[in-house]
Amino acid sequence: MKLKEAIDQLKEGLAGRVAPEEAQAMIRVICEDVFNYDPVDVALRQDSELPDFAPQRIAEIIARLQRHEPLQYIVGSARFHGHRFKVTPAVLIPRPETEQLVDMIVDENPGSDLRVLDMGTGSGCIAISLARALKFAEVDALDISRDALAIARENAAALKVKVRFFESDMLAPQPPARYNIIVSNPPYVCWSERETMEHNVLDYEPGQALFVPDNDPLMFYKAIVPYAARSLERGGHLYLEINQRFGNEMSRLLEENGFGEVRIVEDSYGKVRFAVAMMR
Ligand code: GLN
Repeated sequence: MKLKEAIDQLKEGLAGRVAPEEAQAMIRVICEDVFNYDPVDVALRQDSELPDFAPQRIAEIIARLQRHEPLQYIVGSARFHGHRFKVTPAVLIPRPETEQLVDMIVDENPGSDLRVLDMGTGSGCIAISLARALKFAEVDALDISRDALAIARENAAALKVKVRFFESDMLAPQPPARYNIIVSNPPYVCWSERETMEHNVLDYEPGQALFVPDNDPLMFYKAIVPYAARSLERGGHLYLEINQRFGNEMSRLLEENGFGEVRIVEDSYGKVRFAVAMMR
């Protein structure tokens, strides 16, 4: 099978199911992550012969996409902040909004040797991107899921950074430590919001990383914020991804716990998405 035949089959399999631009983006990812052809190769080497497994793999990919499985789980990787991360259904697929959280931290913290903690690290995408982008940072990351930590460790090794990973429950009090930056993108989607979500999320992504009960939507923040208040150095910052419905409640929670300079920040889609605060 030639590359161009593979691309034609994928186009046909996706036609009418996803928008043409999305199909094109998916095909680009499949060529790169499954067959190791980057966009330049794809443009120049349409006639090159793919390995023997190609026809079967392409049929499998199309069948799985038709069942709404996220492409990132099918190919086993997702792009985040300029790097490729391994993902499996044990971890949430990194979201573009969360790249904005990483950018904000990098832009606002030009200093070196900062101590950083990521709470609920999943694939490790935030912790590892920060370890790569901040100058000589010492990065710790925790997660309750052993399967997630195994993926995060693989990602740190593949991207050649040192992150210390801990198996730990954010909701159980931990001994305070000393950090300059604490960041978290904890579960914050209410159960009742499930109805508005797509099958590819609901049927495949880990609910443990996404959902909180409607009667206690800030349950993770109520543990993270006091822990951060005890563990951040004076002048240190807490960066949180939040549910767009709870900006005001988040501000209040941060102020009640002694934080100042509280900011609620919108994402690039114009939705309330982040809370940032400084430890006084
Ligand atoms: N932003 C994610 C979503 O839309 C939710 C991430 C989270 O719960 N922390 O699915």
